[in-house]
Amino acid sequence: LRRNPGEAEFHQAVREVFESLEPVLRKNPQYVDAAVLERLCEPERQIIFRVPWVDDEGRVQINRGFRVEYNSALGPYKGGLRFHPSVYLGIVKFLGFEQVFKNALTGMPIGGGKGGSDFDPRGRSAGEVMRFCQSFMTELYRHLGEHTDVPAGDIGVGGREIGYLFGQYKRITNRYESGVLTGKGLSWGGSLVRTEATGYGTVLFAERMLATRGQDFDGRRVVVSGSGNVAQYAIQKAQQLGGHVVACSDSTGYVLDEQGIDLPLLQHVRDVERLPVSTYAERRGATFVPGRRVWEVGAQVALPCATQNELDEGDAAALVRSGVLAVSEGANMPTTPKAVALLQDADVLYAPGKAANAGGVATSALEMQQNASRDSWTFEYTEQRLAGIMHAIQDRCLATADEYDAPGSYVVGANIAGFTKVADAMLALGVV
Ligand code: NDP
Repeated sequence: LRRNPGEAEFHQAVREVFESLEPVLRKNPQYVDAAVLERLCEPERQIIFRVPWVDDEGRVQINRGFRVEYNSALGPYKGGLRFHPSVYLGIVKFLGFEQVFKNALTGMPIGGGKGGSDFDPRGRSAGEVMRFCQSFMTELYRHLGEHTDVPAGDIGVGGREIGYLFGQYKRITNRYESGVLTGKGLSWGGSLVRTEATGYGTVLFAERMLATRGQDFDGRRVVVSGSGNVAQYAIQKAQQLGGHVVACSDSTGYVLDEQGIDLPLLQHVRDVERLPVSTYAERRGATFVPGRRVWEVGAQVALPCATQNELDEGDAAALVRSGVLAVSEGANMPTTPKAVALLQDADVLYAPGKAANAGGVATSALEMQQNASRDSWTFEYTEQRLAGIMHAIQDRCLATADEYDAPGSYVVGANIAGFTKVADAMLALGVV
């Protein structure tokens, strides 16, 4: 705490993982002797830089850029970039820390990193976003490479921004290095299913979790927070499985649409017009509730897909009262520790993000594989690989939870399985 003052989200993420580790350390004193935990509290490298750019009025704007290269024991640093005004070092470090264990859980050869900026893309023209991305990459490029550090998207960074970032990387380095970024467009090195992967994976995880109790999505009332990339494809997959998705949200409030969310309309409003969900509600004749959280409408399956700490104990209590069966996290750390405890006490199936949203980064690794072999796979084949990876993560979580006397705890399973994979690699590589 003293070494990292004021980084509340980072402290929360570290505490959440370390709380699961006591029995592992008792069984494996070699991790203690090699100071693995202490090393895991310190990212391998943290880069902070100035991002100057000129807005449409000709004014000079200054933002702060970050890349935290957290751990490379398993492979090159891999993890997204977030552009949002709330971004500061504590958020980037929490996301980087989580990413290390998530990437380990996928079973793929990728280390963990995360980055971003306090730049707010909302209300900015496409030209401003492009100039910002170019300036951001003009500093970051020297730290990247397909064998070094491979960023992707996150909040505020979608296909458009990845395009601008890749264009500038290519221009500066004079290298068409496809494997340096993931989430690329299909015509220039992207992978089918990458756009859908995080949301789809979260729902596939929930589906399998429900199946352990003989339940499924069919006819269930589903509520999703957010309306960005992860939320949209969580809605799509839940609908494909027969779920009735009645609500979603953004930072201004939520929409309740008892007819079921019309995804093409939502995508048009959010991605083409770049307008808030209240516009969707207006056009659809649905209810818009400003300034409140979506959980109050109640659900059988809840899918938090917006941001950290967006589901607190009051929200969890409301969900439990409404008869929620499962909560599967598409976002990173969306459920507060007290809310997690409340859900677990109520015997609700709960999947932490580092397991349930790992489909995004896993498909990024599949994109890297396709780039390396100059190949491109079909949608069906890639989706099958994604489903296989999500199922394997789930099986690994459950087997590890059993091994450590916490049957059914996806939290214990994910934390311990992710940790031991990284810790064993760190031991093998010596004190570095
Ligand atoms: P997007 O930018 O596409 O969408 C984010 C959504 O969340 C928007 O609806 C946004 O509303 C809402 N949101 C963001 N910040 C807040 C806030 N402070 N309060 C309320 N609502 C907010 O991002 P993604 O869908 O890519 O990411 C969503 C979550 O999923 C994040 O936690 C991210 O880390 C995680 N994730 C993403 C992956 C990916 O592949 N993209 C992979 C794994 C995890 P508004 O537009 O009004 O701000």
